[in-house]
Amino acid sequence: MESKNIHKTIIVGSGPAGFTAAIYCGRANLNPLIFEGHQPGGQLTMTTMVENFPGYPEGVMGSELMEKMKQQALHFGATFVAETVVEADLKSKPFKIITQDGQTYLTETLIIASGANAKFLNLESEKELIGRGLSTCATCDGFFYRNKIVHIVGGGDTALEDAIFITKFAKKVYLVHRRDELRASKIMREKAKSNPKIEFIWNSVITKILHDDSGVNGVTVSNLKNGTTENRNTDGLFYAIGHTPNTSFLKGQVDLDDQGFIKTNNGPYTNIEGVFACGDVQDSYYRQAITAAGSGAMAAITLERFLEQH
Ligand SMILES: Cc1cc2nc3c(=O)[nH]c(=O)nc-3n(C[C@H](O)[C@H](O)[C@H](O)COP(=O)(O)OP(=O)(O)OC[C@H]3O[C@@H](n4cnc5c(N)ncnc54)[C@H](O)[C@@H]3O)c2cc1C
Repeated sequence: MESKNIHKTIIVGSGPAGFTAAIYCGRANLNPLIFEGHQPGGQLTMTTMVENFPGYPEGVMGSELMEKMKQQALHFGATFVAETVVEADLKSKPFKIITQDGQTYLTETLIIASGANAKFLNLESEKELIGRGLSTCATCDGFFYRNKIVHIVGGGDTALEDAIFITKFAKKVYLVHRRDELRASKIMREKAKSNPKIEFIWNSVITKILHDDSGVNGVTVSNLKNGTTENRNTDGLFYAIGHTPNTSFLKGQVDLDDQGFIKTNNGPYTNIEGVFACGDVQDSYYRQAITAAGSGAMAAITLERFLEQH
């Protein structure tokens, strides 16, 4: 069913980027409509304590921070719809947004803040161990592993950057990689290999996460070459095997890079006039709540000025 109402703006996504955009659009009297998607509140609802979001000297629980952002957006007139967008038609105006329940919404402008999800190994208990010894974000959680032993999975530049970063805290970092050579750039390989705290476990995969009531305490590592398996003690396990941006509903509509992230220029601009993107869906590098929130503000301010001019 198609609604006749043409919205000033629609925001896809309810993480830090979408909520911040909603607060700014709300305060600009644009009455934004926000689609919350499969993960209301976004990635931070998966974690426990967030210690690096400004304004919370003692830290804040991820879900509490997101609930506060939502309340702030509601306070300024945002409307939330508990639906996932499955298709978008951005070829003509007004733009059309189609949700899973078959509804079509019309809008003059669009902010895409649909985030990205870390890739997992799909081992047992992964989701319940997040924030309890399992992490997908070294920048966020490396700090918690002072003088601890950490295992990290991956072989690209991100994995090596993460491993090197974690050595600032941990006493030992084991990098588990399925091949006997790394995909990462030469400079990163050299840096990691010359770091005395990093040891490589080649030709190997993690097949099980060992844990007790307080969280991760070991991993089972299988060697793909000789078939041996060993249980290893660890205080933490980091995944650095990439992210999948939530852009499947945009195929053929907006320019994406080869990994599916939205290409933006000059801040939040996409290649379509009136369509803006912010947060992790267009940023495979920083991937932080504060950078996502900051880019949400930029998208909303840019959109507001765009509407004034058109
Ligand atoms: C376990 C964990 C711990 C972390 N810890 C920290 C930390 O301590 N500090 C920090 O700064 N960062 C941390 N991060 C990273 C941080 O969560 C992200 O950088 C941030 O959430 C990105 O915000 P975002 O708004 O761009 O996207 P997301 O938070 O990914 O939100 C995306 C939103 O889009 C919605 N969506 C997706 N597809 C659709 C669709 N088709 N239709 C409608 N809605 C859709 C989702 O439901 C979700 O609401 C952590 C991440 C994880 C996974």
